[in-house]
Amino acid sequence: MPTTRATVRASRAQAADPDTVSVIHDLVRPREAKVLPDMLGPYHLIRTLGSGGVGRVFLAEHRAMRRPAAVKVLSDEATADPELLERFYREARALAVLDHPNIVRAYDVREAEGFHFLVLEYAPGQDLEVLLRKRGPLPSAEAVGYIWQAAAGLAHAHAKGFIHRDVKPGNLLVDESGGVKLLDLGLARSNRPGDGSVSGRVDSGTVMCTPDYVAPEQARGEPPDARTDVYSLGVTLYALLTGRPPFEGTVAQKLIAHQSKKPRPVHEVRPEVPHGLSEVVARMMAKTPAKRYASMAEVSAALAPYKAGSPSAETARFAVTVPTKGTTDWAAITADSDAKPWQAKRRPVWPVLLGATVLAVVGLSLNWLVRHGA
Ligand code: ADP
Repeated sequence: MPTTRATVRASRAQAADPDTVSVIHDLVRPREAKVLPDMLGPYHLIRTLGSGGVGRVFLAEHRAMRRPAAVKVLSDEATADPELLERFYREARALAVLDHPNIVRAYDVREAEGFHFLVLEYAPGQDLEVLLRKRGPLPSAEAVGYIWQAAAGLAHAHAKGFIHRDVKPGNLLVDESGGVKLLDLGLARSNRPGDGSVSGRVDSGTVMCTPDYVAPEQARGEPPDARTDVYSLGVTLYALLTGRPPFEGTVAQKLIAHQSKKPRPVHEVRPEVPHGLSEVVARMMAKTPAKRYASMAEVSAALAPYKAGSPSAETARFAVTVPTKGTTDWAAITADSDAKPWQAKRRPVWPVLLGATVLAVVGLSLNWLVRHGA
């Protein structure tokens, strides 16, 4: 094996810092012209978090502030494309206007050591694609809770003029307490072969979308709007509820299916999913944008009854603990006077009457004694 700068650096670092070694090993790719250093400006790269359409994402630490961050480094291919590079900066700066608890915040965009990178809020947790793979279909209320939060983030983004264009389980990070953060908003996307993505002309740039989740109009290369995200969010919810996206096959087959094939209704795949929720998903996934919910606010309102804690989501439990009048349980409960606290127990009257009689007799006797004894 030829000794490269990277392997020398790796063996030197081995003794010192195992994290650094893993970063360097991650970064050594045979055809890569540049070797990514372990410090990029003030950021120490710790380990790879994932790869995306335009580069890799690293867990990093701002050295002086000791603050974690996610650093997205633009790939060599993307850096070599002036249009993509320019768009990366333009859109990264635009991201600064987004400020919402359900959207990963963008802190900085800059260049160091010949690498262009975006510094993002680090969102610990796992993405919904991983969660789906591990757990399979999720309980309705849990799935709705995630999508409801994503809808809130997307509503904010839409209000600021952003369309996500690549909503999918892999772009929704969930933390330990169930908080959701949207990733990958508005960034330019390249067409990387082999990552299951396809490109289409949207706006002035080439964007990547994922064939499992792509809206029909987006697959046709038409300009997206808020309803495009509504569609992809609907497919995401479909996948969370049934365990998989609605259409299978090759990329071409999926693209055609999104435009022409009716998906199997969610409640048919999973009968325990409320029928009403299945209808909400179907409307989010309508082929014609005009037949979908027009905004994320409408989506949120439609999903609200199926969130954890809402009456509809709780129907099953409610029915067991509070039986309705007329059922056997209700009869059993009403037969027990202790189960009716609103009915005060009636005290017996006889002790009162006896007491009064005794008092009267004693009173009369005393009266007689006083009169006749005196
Ligand atoms: P893609 O372009 O494929 O949507 P990204 O480039 O946004 O993916 O990110 C790739 C992966 O890196 C994500 O699936 C996620 O696991 C991880 N990741 C990205 N951004 C962050 C972040 N801010 N915090 C934590 N992990 C992240």
